[in-house]
Amino acid sequence: MRLDRKELGAACSICPLRGGRRVPGTGPNIATGSWSGLVLIGESPGSEETAGGRPFVGSAGRLLDSLLHQAGVVRESCWITNLIGCQPPGNKIDSEEGRAALEACGAGREAEFRKLAAAGARVWVPLGSHPLSALGVVGGITSRRGYVYERAGRLLVPTYHPSYLLRGSFEEIPTAVGDLKKARRILFNGWTRRKPKFTTSPSLPDLRAFADRVIRRKTLLGLDIETTSLIPERGEIIVVGLATGPREAVSFPLLKQGGARYWKTAAEESEVRRLLKKILAACPVVVHNGVFDLAWLRAKNIPALKLAHDTILLHHALHPELPHRLSYVASVYAEVEYWKDTLEDKTVPTLSLEDSKLREYNLWDAAVLLEILPKMLADAEALGVLEPYETVTIPLVEAVLEMTRTGLRLDRGRQRAWQARLEKEVAAKEAEIRALAGLPAGFSLGSGDHLGFLFFGEAPAGLERARSELALKEEALALLRAEQAELEGCPERTRAEERRLLSVKGQILRKETAKNYRDLLARADVLGVTPLRLPTGTTPHRTDTGRVCLDDEALLGLKTRLNSRILAIRGMRRPPRGISEEAAGLERSLAVVTGLMGWRETAKLLSTYGDFETWEDGRVHFPFKMTGTATGRLSSGDKKSLGVGNGQNIPEEARALFVEDGWIIGADYASLEPRVLAYISEDEPAIADFEKGLKPYDSIMQNVLGLKKADPDYDAVRRAMKIYVLGTNYGGSLETVYSQMSLKLERLPFSLARLREIHEERLRLHPAYRMWYNRTVEQVRKTRELRTFTGRRRVFLGSQAEIVRAALDFGPQGGAADVINQATVRLLRERDRVRSRARLALQVHDALYLVLPADATEAEIKKTARMLKTAMEAPIDVGKYENVTFPVEVSVGRSWGEMEEVEI
Ligand code: URA
Repeated sequence: MRLDRKELGAACSICPLRGGRRVPGTGPNIATGSWSGLVLIGESPGSEETAGGRPFVGSAGRLLDSLLHQAGVVRESCWITNLIGCQPPGNKIDSEEGRAALEACGAGREAEFRKLAAAGARVWVPLGSHPLSALGVVGGITSRRGYVYERAGRLLVPTYHPSYLLRGSFEEIPTAVGDLKKARRILFNGWTRRKPKFTTSPSLPDLRAFADRVIRRKTLLGLDIETTSLIPERGEIIVVGLATGPREAVSFPLLKQGGARYWKTAAEESEVRRLLKKILAACPVVVHNGVFDLAWLRAKNIPALKLAHDTILLHHALHPELPHRLSYVASVYAEVEYWKDTLEDKTVPTLSLEDSKLREYNLWDAAVLLEILPKMLADAEALGVLEPYETVTIPLVEAVLEMTRTGLRLDRGRQRAWQARLEKEVAAKEAEIRALAGLPAGFSLGSGDHLGFLFFGEAPAGLERARSELALKEEALALLRAEQAELEGCPERTRAEERRLLSVKGQILRKETAKNYRDLLARADVLGVTPLRLPTGTTPHRTDTGRVCLDDEALLGLKTRLNSRILAIRGMRRPPRGISEEAAGLERSLAVVTGLMGWRETAKLLSTYGDFETWEDGRVHFPFKMTGTATGRLSSGDKKSLGVGNGQNIPEEARALFVEDGWIIGADYASLEPRVLAYISEDEPAIADFEKGLKPYDSIMQNVLGLKKADPDYDAVRRAMKIYVLGTNYGGSLETVYSQMSLKLERLPFSLARLREIHEERLRLHPAYRMWYNRTVEQVRKTRELRTFTGRRRVFLGSQAEIVRAALDFGPQGGAADVINQATVRLLRERDRVRSRARLALQVHDALYLVLPADATEAEIKKTARMLKTAMEAPIDVGKYENVTFPVEVSVGRSWGEMEEVEI
């Protein structure tokens, strides 16, 4: 079937693309009605399409074929067409010619679309932003894809353009396939617009009636709140939205636009709060990111107790590798029109939004949860991830809420001293580098351009220009000074004359010129620096724009190269002449690189952890996140939005800043990840080592290297082995591990070749580990999916090279996450059962911390420590091994940084 645009009325004679070969839409014979009714709309044909006379037959077309195939759609059953019929220059539809062609093709395109509609087109899939907007949807494809729109009588389900995916956004492929599946589902099941029944301006009787109804039936409610800020202690709830169905919901407003109260009297508002309390005490709720909503409700004394489901956690259980924001999850599971534009601009304060708009938005957020939940649960059941989600993840929400609420007390005095110390350290490190490399004042350690010159003698144009500009200015300044000297003491000097002079040399004398001049001087100073000596053949990393890049990774690379060359020189039996000069130069460069890395580290420490925000209670409340990692580990902190840096990464020294009036009781799993790895890989020798109390690196020291403590290299090698075990266990290549060693150790005790030998010998002693390694790599390459030993899954997106490392990491990391998360849930259950006063304060890496009030007796502290140890060491099954215990070390103290180990 051919629908030629020209024949259909396109204004080809005035189109700038006239003369090109027209590529008509293609598909089954729509006239006979024997087609699926699915229309795919691209932008414009490319060269291969123009040559072949059919749309989507080039590389984008081949990907489209694959997407359709994965979605279960037969290409031949679809009508495939483009916005314009001819190829624009550079394939750019937004070029001048492309835009004119869009216009000229318009009548023909509309006629084609009418014919398709008349022949039974039912679902239209715009591929990318251009077709999306041409079909009447406002907004970009990234946010709008996957949603369902009715425009001009057409039902649209947009998705990405295949060319966008080909340009490197491979991880979006499953999303695009999901969109096409949705289009197919709607094609077969149909779609009806269901008008929402939303009450956005309720009266008190409305809310009373709603409460009566839902409390009586214990209705499952979709819940969402809007707030004035991110932190409960700093703001208020604007509205609580409660949904009883996918399109039925009621607002419980508290504030109006601008911040005025919604209810006329305090008595009315109190009653609304009481109603909310009663409802949430009786009805189970489903939320999206309950850690946020429940923390707020509780802080405002409206305890929501019955968390039935959290769709963000459910989505994380289904697809830890994908985004989890509601706008994404709904684009996959709901069949609604995009509603999120109301709050799309994060810079607009929520309270400035029109009431009806904000409340409607909020009710959509609540109602859509009841639409997506059943489909997500069905998926979770089918994929076998429902059990860990229900038994560990959902109960863990309580733990996370408790940790954030409890927090740790910050000792302000210690904190100030630590900040001052860091500032001093940063300054001292900077001074050291400056002295070592002979850097002038104008050289900035934070400037990539300046560093580029120091390391590679390469000056970007701006820096080079400074030299000639400076020469010109110096010349002009000299002239000026001479003239000024002439004028000096001249009685008839007048303001007018001075002004004339200024305008003659105006370029230099304008006020801002002083700064400009200083800047020029500084830049020219940089060019006087002698570049560092690097091993011959060292080439710089470059940014996309071609500039020298000296980020942390690049510095690490330089350090490794310098280290290797220095090692090689040291090992020379007959050193050639001049080598000692080279060695001295390289040593100096190495000292600069190491110094720079240390300076950066401390400067970063200062900006991230130099200061901690506390709440009114003087405590730091770490905001934990349950969906921040694909491994299932909790993450915490977001300095930008919440003022608290990542609690998981708090440096050891900063822990001493936290001092309780009462007691901190902590327990840390010993070598949790290597132990998990030993069990999941069924590595019997490693398990036996652990049972003997031998750490993996000590086992290598003994069994592979045969090194005795008395050996002078013992300590250095042991530290290197620690890095090696950690790195390789999780798929790090030996090269990466070796660079990590050079990052962390002052001096490398052996070469990369020797490390390879050690690795081979270790693998020989642990054949099961080698098998697990190979098995994991093979499986992830084949299926892109892995599970932890408790059944949590992860799909690995990205290129084959990228996924292997993440895959090897997932077993031990994800397994360790399972162990500690299960223990956390177990601990809180036990704590509640025995009515202990201990509060959970932190889960950091493999450790849990409880706090007890100041009046706790020694007996209570001991009992709490025992409870913690018992909960964490409870035997669990790991694969074929039953009742495995992961041992913990327990410690007690008033300060997090000064805890003492205790025997239980
Ligand atoms: N890209 C499009 O938008 N259409 C085609 O036909 C081919 C590539």
